[in-house]
Amino acid sequence: MRKVKKTLITGINGQDGSYLAELLLNKGYEVHGTIRRTAIENVNRMVNLNHIRNKIHLHICQLDNHLAIYKLIAQIKPDECYHLAAASFVSYSFEDETSIINSNFNSTHFLLSSIKELVPDCKVYFAGSSEMFGYALNSPQDENEKFNPRSIYGISKVASYHVVKNYRERFNLYTCTGITYNHESPRRGYAFVTRKITSTVAKIYLGYEKCLELGNVNTQRDWGYAPEYVEAMWRMLNKTNKPDDYIIATGKLHSVKDVLEVAFSSVGLKYESYLKINEDFYRPGENIPLAGNCEKIKNAIGWIAKKSFYEMIQEMVMNDIEILRGRNL
Ligand code: GDP
Repeated sequence: MRKVKKTLITGINGQDGSYLAELLLNKGYEVHGTIRRTAIENVNRMVNLNHIRNKIHLHICQLDNHLAIYKLIAQIKPDECYHLAAASFVSYSFEDETSIINSNFNSTHFLLSSIKELVPDCKVYFAGSSEMFGYALNSPQDENEKFNPRSIYGISKVASYHVVKNYRERFNLYTCTGITYNHESPRRGYAFVTRKITSTVAKIYLGYEKCLELGNVNTQRDWGYAPEYVEAMWRMLNKTNKPDDYIIATGKLHSVKDVLEVAFSSVGLKYESYLKINEDFYRPGENIPLAGNCEKIKNAIGWIAKKSFYEMIQEMVMNDIEILRGRNL
């Protein structure tokens, strides 16, 4: 009989963690995931897992605690580990920055060192980010683009990327970094601009809200569809024998204005009638947009982004309307 593969997903209750858990359950894996103690006590933070809660194994684990991670790896002995958990909010306070850099870097290092000691054959995916390129010098960026992070979050991801690469080169571990560009879905957090727009459009449509306040609507992003991005993560560990780092992106740029146009027109409204520009939401200038060159991942493991931007935004609006109508709770 074939052995059931075991996987550990850190941050399983997030957008990507929950889609990845679904994908791996469908592929027959035994799925384990870590969550924070504060998450299990908050129904809103567990909502992405409601439909699969009894099929997965949840572990409360503080990822900046080396001993806790070591014990967890010893208990599960995973065949694959997807390290998705990270403090990702943009913050400018000194205390927050210290904790972001500490917890994001230490969790990655503790996880790798425990895997090296206990299950050196375990394949590891690390969630990198286009924020590693930050103030990029070229667009689109490929895997050879110089890192130029503009936030402590980006810096913590670059530092982790190097430790992931170092474990691959020095200890021969199967470790990879996926440099994901923005990816959205009905499970995206409400603070991100796509979800802010689609959830407010749903409220306006149903008469709960009158306007939408945004910052710079000319900013452009490379927006992909999260369920497809978790497929890319799995492929990086399973469709090649050579561990490597890949950009995961669509390669296409859209502006915040494009999101507005699609979201409002999907319910027959014009965004111009509802939009208020609020300088408080402006971010420092971005001259060169973050767009990913996806040639490497396409050629090596046959992954390409498929879902259209328009379909994705429309799906998010429809989902937010359903939530407000109480059908999706
Ligand atoms: P991220 O900044 O790439 O992680 O993703 P966001 O979804 O938070 O922001 C995407 C872009 O939308 C950024 O360039 C923002 O400057 C722009 N944006 C414009 N108005 C807003 C807003 O009200 N909220 C957010 N989150 N972003 C906004």
